[in-house]
Amino acid sequence: MLKRLDRADLEKLLAALATGYRLLTPQRLADGTRLHRPHGEGALALQGEPVQRKPTEAFFPQHDPLLRIGEQGEVTTCDPPDRPVALFGLNAADLACIAFIDRFFADPPADDHYLARRKDALLVGLTGFAGPGGDFLPPANGMCDLELLALGQNWLGVPWTPRGEALLEGFPDGEQAEVEELQETARTRGNPAQDLLEKAAGLVASEVVPDDFWREIGDRCILCSGCNLACPTCTCFCVEDRQEQAATLRSRVWDSCQFDAFMREASGHNPLGTEALRTRRRIHHKLAADVTRWGEFGCLLCGRCDRVCPTGIGIQAVAAEILARFGA
Ligand code: SF4
Ligand code: SF4
Repeated sequence: MLKRLDRADLEKLLAALATGYRLLTPQRLADGTRLHRPHGEGALALQGEPVQRKPTEAFFPQHDPLLRIGEQGEVTTCDPPDRPVALFGLNAADLACIAFIDRFFADPPADDHYLARRKDALLVGLTGFAGPGGDFLPPANGMCDLELLALGQNWLGVPWTPRGEALLEGFPDGEQAEVEELQETARTRGNPAQDLLEKAAGLVASEVVPDDFWREIGDRCILCSGCNLACPTCTCFCVEDRQEQAATLRSRVWDSCQFDAFMREASGHNPLGTEALRTRRRIHHKLAADVTRWGEFGCLLCGRCDRVCPTGIGIQAVAAEILARFGA
């Protein structure tokens, strides 16, 4: 089933989503920041760079209350919000990041808290000519309930799950040839950023990158943790207990492997005791350790760490430098 939606159809689809879900859509703030906000708060920004904050925060928020411990030690778990979220307007990289952490949190022992939020959530991809200024974004080819392929003023609606199919029912049919044309555009353009990452990963995994390089990169880091906090595939957290009158609220809070205390053991020993080791770990984990564990990179090239890092050592910048300095 393939559909073709015009702007009025799109508004109809959004209205249907808003009745069943807590709908978040990409919007622009006055300063130009593009981000996910509750639908209707501002004008839709259907084209543009990836949303500022990582979309995975809808299911794994920065501060996530897990349970309350009462005065007598009785424990009550914190339930997820009543209405499931619908995340509208995700590009292929962000959808791949959500799929990555879905698998991470579902791996035994499964994280019930994450899965409860994620279970009934709906993902809507927005690809095709939906990038900055109408630039081309490669199709996601799944990983969502339904995908809208932007063609300027119209969208091709492709359902990937029964829920997506139900939502697209009643809209006019689209032409398969138009989807194939977009697929061909994606094939022709290739993915130079992925090629770069693969080459750099090969060098990282084969240990040809010397310790001095990691020391240099570590010295450039100002330990702001922005790379981790912006990364949709980063899942590290610490646990915080906060006193609330007679009860204690236990929450998880995002943590950062760039921080000194992140790996410090109770004995005081820190296996990642230098910035060089921590920086090496951040990159090595995404490009080598995750491949061993999950069979794919832990970086799906969303671009956020390169955008936020104030000292220019996001993963693509480091990968390019590795290749320039240690590639054959
Ligand atoms: S580009 Fe950076 S922020 Fe995005 S997935 Fe890769 S490592 Fe994470
Ligand atoms: S964003 Fe850059 S400066 Fe900040 S912790 Fe990450 S690597 Fe270091």
